[in-house]
Amino acid sequence: MRTAGGIALPLAVLILLPGCAHQHATKAAGRKMIVLGLDGLDPGFLEAHWDVLPNMNRLRQTGDFKRLGTTIPPQSPVAWSTVTTGMDPGGHGVFDFVHRDPATRMPVSSMAEITPPKHTLELGPYLVPLSSGSVTSSRAGRTFWQILEDQGIPSSVIRMPANFPPAECEADSLSGMGTPDLMGTSGTFTFFTDDPEEKRTAVPAGKIVHVAVANGRAVLRIEGPPNTFRSDGAAASVEMIAYVDPTEQAARFDLGDQQAVLGKGEWSNWLHAGFKMLPLVKSASGILRIYLQQAHPYLRVYVSPVNIDPAAPELPISTPASFSRQLSDALGPFYTQGIAEETSAYRAGLLNKDEFLVQSHKILSDSLRMFRYELAHFSDGLLFYYFSSTDQNAHMLYGKYDDDLLDVYRAVDGAVGEAMAKAGNDTTLLLLSDHGFARFDRAVHLNAWLMREGFLYLDDPANVGDDELFAHVDWTRTQAYAMGLNGLYLNREGRENGGIVPASEVQQVKQTIIGKLLEFRDPKDGRLVVGKVYDSDTAFRGHNLKMAPDLIVGYHRGYRGSWQTALGAVPGTLIDDNTQGWIADHCMASDEVPGVLMSNRKMKLESPQLYDVTATILAEFGVPKTSAMLGQSVF
Ligand SMILES: [Zn+2]
Repeated sequence: MRTAGGIALPLAVLILLPGCAHQHATKAAGRKMIVLGLDGLDPGFLEAHWDVLPNMNRLRQTGDFKRLGTTIPPQSPVAWSTVTTGMDPGGHGVFDFVHRDPATRMPVSSMAEITPPKHTLELGPYLVPLSSGSVTSSRAGRTFWQILEDQGIPSSVIRMPANFPPAECEADSLSGMGTPDLMGTSGTFTFFTDDPEEKRTAVPAGKIVHVAVANGRAVLRIEGPPNTFRSDGAAASVEMIAYVDPTEQAARFDLGDQQAVLGKGEWSNWLHAGFKMLPLVKSASGILRIYLQQAHPYLRVYVSPVNIDPAAPELPISTPASFSRQLSDALGPFYTQGIAEETSAYRAGLLNKDEFLVQSHKILSDSLRMFRYELAHFSDGLLFYYFSSTDQNAHMLYGKYDDDLLDVYRAVDGAVGEAMAKAGNDTTLLLLSDHGFARFDRAVHLNAWLMREGFLYLDDPANVGDDELFAHVDWTRTQAYAMGLNGLYLNREGRENGGIVPASEVQQVKQTIIGKLLEFRDPKDGRLVVGKVYDSDTAFRGHNLKMAPDLIVGYHRGYRGSWQTALGAVPGTLIDDNTQGWIADHCMASDEVPGVLMSNRKMKLESPQLYDVTATILAEFGVPKTSAMLGQSVF
């Protein structure tokens, strides 16, 4: 994994989904429920701004508003998997954005696994699959909408995170966070320029391609999926031609038979790109957007990640398979990539804050358009609708640009008002967030701390730095290592290749690390860094701990594991000031970043938890929860 945005997944072109019995839908006996998932909506931020959020304020006054207990750790794929299954992470088995392979210690996606086809036939440079590859979700457990379907209760579930590929059922569902772009990554943009001052060729989640502008013309090569039909796996690509106006800040872009003429600071509409895979037989369809940052003195062009085309999806992104096409027919193309806000180009300094906001508002308007369509078509059973904007914008704005963040909250407040009007008196409305927010001022290099405390060793202590994937770690002496945003793993005998901590010493090593972490003080000002350390053996009620970290580190507000830690690097300092555009976060101690639960009805439960939301949904339709589910109805 070279990008902080996520893991590059090889793209399986042929997909096999596990079968499931199709139930014949009956009626929901007139019961109706709308559930809005507002990722990262923060209770404290709401309380500071009730006066300009009229709909949520009214919902609080006429219904209810509570803090919602979140998961350990409070990360979105983990938390939404709990909402989906009603189980804690020990049940559904998702513990972080990033897991590691227990044997090799290398990062793997926590959300989806892709298996290539077993048998292939080589034909010249082409590799023709004779059996199907597959892509499967890593989350265990049944989804609440599958359980509703068993009882004949219809539902629409739009963009539930960590639901790629979507759980098979007859419900209308569209996958969200965890859905790759057409390259199979979690989103890789391309930035084209002839600016000699730009020396980089790659940044996290993006490529910088240096082009030559000759006589006002430049060829921009856009990479698509790795061509699994070729034995060399070379990526398929398309050529876009840029014609730069000789004097004006403008350029024309030709892609196939499409043209976009853009002035400086303008975005194109969606363009289609067809990537040839097998000659004449197989091509992969993607959609992308272009942004002309400037034409002179140097050309600077941002091209979005190539999204899976919802009208002709190359990977399964909806149930039924035709549902994404139906949405695309009704609404036009839309972002299908799991997390589409361009935080990476902003972090890399390629887009400025205003440019980031324009792009993120395009996602929000796509999302609002789809929300209104779903709301208008909702008449029975359950509607779940998820918004990413409250989270992704908060990462870049919370605590520093609160007015800009408030614009996003206001837009979402409007959607809440529409949902309240639709719900009226006969439909239960739930609104929830998976966690809250805090500033992220100090980046903790947890592997560097493990090294200082004598739990981790390098081949040469001078080899500290940003090299990822434990490049210089001496595993013959290392007892513990950190990967992901909260995970800490022991180097266990019989589990990790060459692991050295025997089962008899696991408890003692864990206790020593916990004790020292709780005394870990920031060298800058002596503040305590860690509020809680959770032991996976006791923190969860489920026992699906195959991918679980041994310990989960709950930082105090203001602190978070560094990007380098997430990717297994061992820098030379313990904690650095966070100087990047990603200024706020929530991967901290769970009790320090609670989410929000609101309803148009009073709640009986005093301290609701995420898994209570699942039990509440089932209870509203009179469906008993399964024995694996932990929660109870909040009403
Ligand atoms: Zn987030």
